Amino acid sequence: MGQTDPMPAQLLGAHMSTKNGIGQAVRDGKAIGCTAIQVFTASPRMWKAKAVTQEMVADLNKARAETGIEAIVSHDSYLVNLCAPTPEIRDKSYESLRDELIRCSLLGIPYVVSHMGSAKDQTEDDALKTTAAQALRLLDETPDNVMLLMETTAGQGSSLNYRFEHLRTLLDLCHGHPRLGVCLDTCHIFAAGYDIREEEGYELTFLGFDAMVGLGRLKAIHCNDSMKPLGSKLDRHEHIGQGLIGEGAFRRLVNDPRFETTPILLETNEAETMHRVNLERLRNFISA
Ligand SMILES: [Zn+2]
Ligand SMILES: [Zn+2]
Repeated sequence: MGQTDPMPAQLLGAHMSTKNGIGQAVRDGKAIGCTAIQVFTASPRMWKAKAVTQEMVADLNKARAETGIEAIVSHDSYLVNLCAPTPEIRDKSYESLRDELIRCSLLGIPYVVSHMGSAKDQTEDDALKTTAAQALRLLDETPDNVMLLMETTAGQGSSLNYRFEHLRTLLDLCHGHPRLGVCLDTCHIFAAGYDIREEEGYELTFLGFDAMVGLGRLKAIHCNDSMKPLGSKLDRHEHIGQGLIGEGAFRRLVNDPRFETTPILLETNEAETMHRVNLERLRNFISA
């Protein structure tokens, strides 16, 4: 392979526990072979979070220097629903995500992954409009060194963003804001009906994404196989190659030169024992 040839994926990693701090999550990631990681900077099931301290920043910077891991992505609280019909939840969601973006700015984490929210009893159009207004305000009121990545969903319940069209609409309503990006979850898009199992479907899916959204917006990939079938709209992650997507799609993904520098992150179960195994699987898929 010549020096200018595109390379396979360079940033493979997993969602790591921060029970011993974010710095330690980076070190633990390195220990199992990660070159990128995802973390929660706060409890994903609580509205309020502790503020970032100087010690946290220093420890994370030290861990970065020790491990060489620079690609760090944060996932926001599961409680956040920017388009919630209840004003109280909508406001709490806004504040929670705003604080998350500020924490990540202080920590030097460039990406925050968030779900677009659930429409509940509203029309999807109305919910998208509310989400867009909230997103614009968030990006206005937070520092420039953090991007907000809207994650594709399986479409369970009334959740938005199970079609790439929703991303297009959001981007349009946000006037193509430069700090608005996307995190694509392989399990979610498969459950939402994008058939990435075989080469043709895989290509069509990413060509479709590129045409609709633009691959330049795709800043992170969640790499999960699926327990539930194509189009089931059910979000159940499975170990790589053991689910209904199967290993072909993951082989293509890690060898796809379009994703050479995109963090590809596992969110599979049994993290303590299986992250290492799933990462090894992904590495073994990379063609020599
Ligand atoms: Zn997510
Ligand atoms: Zn995900």
